[in-house]
Amino acid sequence: MASVTFAGATRRFAGGQKPAVDSLDLTVADGEFMVLVGPSGCGKSTSLRMVAGLESVESGAILIDDVDVIGMAPKARDVAMVFQNYALYPNMTVADNMGFALRNAGMSKADTGTRVLDVARMLELENLLDRKPAKLSGGQRQRVAMGRAIVRRPRVFCMDEPLSNLDAKLRVSTRAQIAAMQRELGVTTLYVTHDQVEAMTMGHRVAVLDSGVLQQVGTPREIYSRPANLFVASFMGSPQMCLIDGRIEDGIVHLGGTRVHVPAPVSASLSSSEVVVGLRAESWSVSSSHQSGVLAATVDLVEELGAEQFVYCSADLSLRNSRIVVRVDHRRTVEVGDVIGLTPVVDETYWFDPVSGDALD
Ligand code: ATP
Repeated sequence: MASVTFAGATRRFAGGQKPAVDSLDLTVADGEFMVLVGPSGCGKSTSLRMVAGLESVESGAILIDDVDVIGMAPKARDVAMVFQNYALYPNMTVADNMGFALRNAGMSKADTGTRVLDVARMLELENLLDRKPAKLSGGQRQRVAMGRAIVRRPRVFCMDEPLSNLDAKLRVSTRAQIAAMQRELGVTTLYVTHDQVEAMTMGHRVAVLDSGVLQQVGTPREIYSRPANLFVASFMGSPQMCLIDGRIEDGIVHLGGTRVHVPAPVSASLSSSEVVVGLRAESWSVSSSHQSGVLAATVDLVEELGAEQFVYCSADLSLRNSRIVVRVDHRRTVEVGDVIGLTPVVDETYWFDPVSGDALD
């Protein structure tokens, strides 16, 4: 096992105006499961590939256990990569696919068989060891690809969107399985995804990237409850946080008929009276629009999820997203065209500088 450190790691591609990865500083602790997340093209895969040695580094360093691995051949790094397209050898059985690298490295047939069986048990593949890949489901093939990486007992796992070829249900069960496997093995893991739910549910910590630049790194809870800036606030969390441009008057921001008090730490770091107020779907309370002190909002769309519903509304506010989204208990009947009253839940507001986008507190 090993720690992995990006120290100012930068990679620019020919023709690219901005670096694909720009001075990345990030340390993944020994045994940690770190998720790199961000929108398409933000530099996640390039970062991962730099660790595996599949991409060169323009400046800065990549350290594995404090040793700079730049210039070291991919094989010598002892990093196992699991890709989205987990090409298995079609003519080989599951057991042979999983044991191939070990046999190639000179391990005896008996030792390889024991190691493969151990890993197959962990991944619930022991009854499929004699099958060929064509006779496996997508999820089983994915587990074989994972198994092939695990049997090598690498120092570091790098996984690049390994679940993206699976259907929604299988993604959920496989992500739990990968997280459990990582806990059991304790191997330092870097996992790339564009799916923020995957990031939040799997990672010990999450690193959020945008345009090649690290925006924030923290536990899933820290990222959700203390987003560093507007990008992280709107990228992480589903549905998206509602962002409202507002003006502070006497320590208060008026949102239609309702109002929010500016918390003291926010007041202390203000540079102007303009702010962006952020509210998540669960941070609104709903009442009748006839009540005083509420924001009147018109329901445009109701998304039924069984236990709850997401209600998309419009209101006379300066919204950065197209609509306000409110989580409403399933017992309350809400219909398109209704006008409802909204009040922000005290202490569940987020505050940002409208110019820099940075969180205020
Ligand atoms: P995705 O989720 O779409 O895979 P990503 O976040 O993994 O995206 P990268 O694949 O790391 O992003 O790409 C980062 C940037 O570098 C993108 O702008 C991409 O177009 C560019 N890029 C990546 N590989 C190359 C290459 N071989 N040549 C030129 N530009 C590249």
